Amino acid sequence: MTQGAGTGPSASRPIPTRPPGGSLDPVALRAVLWDVDDTLFDYTGSDRTGIARHLAAEGLLTRYGTAERAFSLWREAMETHFARFLAGEIDFQEHRRARVRAFLAARLADAEADAWFARYVRHYEAAWTLFPDAGPALEAVGRRFRQAVLSNASTAHQRRKLAVLGVRGHFEEVLGAGPQGCAKPDPRAFLGACAALGLHPGEVVYVGDQLETDAVAAQAAGLHGVWLDRTGGADGNAVPDGVRRIRGLDELPGLLRPVIDFGAPSTFG
Ligand SMILES: [Mg+2]
Repeated sequence: MTQGAGTGPSASRPIPTRPPGGSLDPVALRAVLWDVDDTLFDYTGSDRTGIARHLAAEGLLTRYGTAERAFSLWREAMETHFARFLAGEIDFQEHRRARVRAFLAARLADAEADAWFARYVRHYEAAWTLFPDAGPALEAVGRRFRQAVLSNASTAHQRRKLAVLGVRGHFEEVLGAGPQGCAKPDPRAFLGACAALGLHPGEVVYVGDQLETDAVAAQAAGLHGVWLDRTGGADGNAVPDGVRRIRGLDELPGLLRPVIDFGAPSTFG
């Protein structure tokens, strides 16, 4: 969800390269563990639409010059205070209040910040949408593999979101960050998810949009890290050793073959 330091291909430490392509060993794989935001769910697009509609309704768009400028500031406030939530400094509700206060540069009482955020959420949730390739990928992967979610957002929030989006039933477990939990990229977050599934990390693929926080961290924890690079970076041909890069979820089947033939579900036993 967040774009924390060191999460892109331009991170300071050198990234060894490997040729793209190749498939995972399907014999060893039992489950696919998913990130949610900006992997299955179009968080950035939903948030951009939601804040623009909310600011228009509040009469605040002109204050920020352009909708894109407003979104940039809104996103910056989210990243700052979501990081504080992940660090255990504040709870999820307080992180929302802090985002509102930072964005408006105003000292709002808790109730005022809560009300402002609630009005934003109505627009944001009205814009909630999956990426077009998410549903087909979940359907195809689910024919052969167990599936679960490991997210850094709150568990309750993600469970509700996935239910609203109509995909909650694909997942045995939906695991998020909590006050006592460990967040990605901490290996304990990945190992905890594997333990919840009763699987060895080597039996689990992790798919996420953040190179370092998702794919590299999963690989370091002993899982198979798959980086969903939807936009492609300037250094798009270089990925760390062992990490697989896909440009869309429609490419995931290619990594999991020959166990899955995504084009012919009737062939599965
Ligand atoms: Mg994500």
